[in-house]
Amino acid sequence: MRRVWPPGTFDRLSRAGAVMEAPRFDNSFARLPDQFFTRIDPVPVSDPQLIALNVSLVGQMGLDEDWLLSEAGLAMMAGNAMPSNAAPLAQVYAGHQFGGWSPQLGDGRAHLLGEVVGPDGLNWDIQLKGSGQTPYSRMGDGRAWLGPVLREYIISEAMHALGVPTTRALAAVSTGEPVLREQGYLPGAILTRVAPSHLRVGHFQYFAAEQDSDALGILLKYAIQKHYPDLDDDDAPGFLRAVMLAQADLVGRWMALGFIHGVMNTDNTHIGAITIDYGPCAFMDAYHPGKVFSSIDQFGRYAYGAQPQILVWNLAQLATALLPLMGSDRDKAISEAEAILEGYGAAYTDAWMRHMLPKIGITEPHEGDVELLQDLLNRMAENQADFTRTFRGLANGSTRDEFVDPTAFDAWASTWRGRVPDAPDLNRVNPAFIARNHRIEEAIQAALQADFAPFERLVEVLRHPYDDQPAHNDLQNAPLDQELVTQTFCGT
Ligand code: AMP
Ligand code: MG
Repeated sequence: MRRVWPPGTFDRLSRAGAVMEAPRFDNSFARLPDQFFTRIDPVPVSDPQLIALNVSLVGQMGLDEDWLLSEAGLAMMAGNAMPSNAAPLAQVYAGHQFGGWSPQLGDGRAHLLGEVVGPDGLNWDIQLKGSGQTPYSRMGDGRAWLGPVLREYIISEAMHALGVPTTRALAAVSTGEPVLREQGYLPGAILTRVAPSHLRVGHFQYFAAEQDSDALGILLKYAIQKHYPDLDDDDAPGFLRAVMLAQADLVGRWMALGFIHGVMNTDNTHIGAITIDYGPCAFMDAYHPGKVFSSIDQFGRYAYGAQPQILVWNLAQLATALLPLMGSDRDKAISEAEAILEGYGAAYTDAWMRHMLPKIGITEPHEGDVELLQDLLNRMAENQADFTRTFRGLANGSTRDEFVDPTAFDAWASTWRGRVPDAPDLNRVNPAFIARNHRIEEAIQAALQADFAPFERLVEVLRHPYDDQPAHNDLQNAPLDQELVTQTFCGT
């Protein structure tokens, strides 16, 4: 049975006497000129079922939980019927994928439905991911399967709880329709993803490549109003610097959690510096700077330790795209952009220190502190020490057990205790729980058997990653050899 509701029918429904209300969309992106997007409805699915609704986020966004749980809400989240003031569209952007230029990417399986403003004044895009083909689908089917949808739900919400800026997961639905992947036919699913915007470095690259300076200027103004409202809305150099600082901070946060994004292409690098496009990403278990999970990252371009350098490469692409907005003297613009990017090294080092040093109890760095931390990291790498457990264990003295050779830790620890005799509450900065790969995999496998309990437990525990949760100690454990997930895959 195909449920296709006439648009607008369900804007206001009365259930058990209560008035329910559809999201009140105000669509600033849809008011941009035509060349920014293609208006297109999601492709309906045959049998949508709600898998998960993020109730606390629903509240924060000021949405009506009852409406979202109604048939009309489900129809929206499945892409089957839109509230009347939604303005579904697919955005166009370009990007460098693994260093290779693609002049046109865009939302190939996502639809921006519209934007809402929460009671706290925060702005949210509501987007479906896995909602059918668009003019930007290229060879893709426009769909997602259950695995990557649950993965993104778990990891993006975990990142939020860990204090990392990120797109959020509002809901997940299954579609009732199989999708064909390398592994065979798999159940289709759609994620409702929300974020302050979905603007990427690739948006700027697209209009720069099109040599459409007018559109580029409009995009800059829009991006500044959304993400850097303190800047003048035509201040391209100020914008470049602001994105650089914010992105350096973001990657510094990733590094401090052992997070590997896995596809740091320019189209996956967010202008507002939030983590976006969770594909083959992973939190590493045993620490190694060269760690790679993504099956398609053969040369380790996006390895853990490579992320800071890749970021500045991506920022250089943004700078190049912004040149037409930096004055008519191109040489002068190039010098100015270069001068800004030269600040990256210091900005990143600051960010890294800001997020890493507190993990060993240092909030006011002295000379030698970076070396002290680096020494620990080197010993961790040599001893296959679990990243998260090593730092978490510092507060209760259990860290040495994480090392193949515990005396390698002991030697470091005596120096550390000399430098940091009374560590502050390290459990506030070193999480107990991260979204471990083998647990995500376990949750997906159970979900494929219609058992969503492991998924729900993981999501719930990861909402409080810094708290001890004795009943869930098993989720803190590093994988056993037979549980180890060594490769992750793109959602495609
Ligand atoms: P990613 O690097 O995974 O964020 O995706 C790169 C590009 O491929 C984006 O333009 C996506 O919209 C597009 N894409 C990924 N998967 C699919 C799919 N199944 N169908 C259509 N387009 C897709
Ligand atoms: Mg992407």
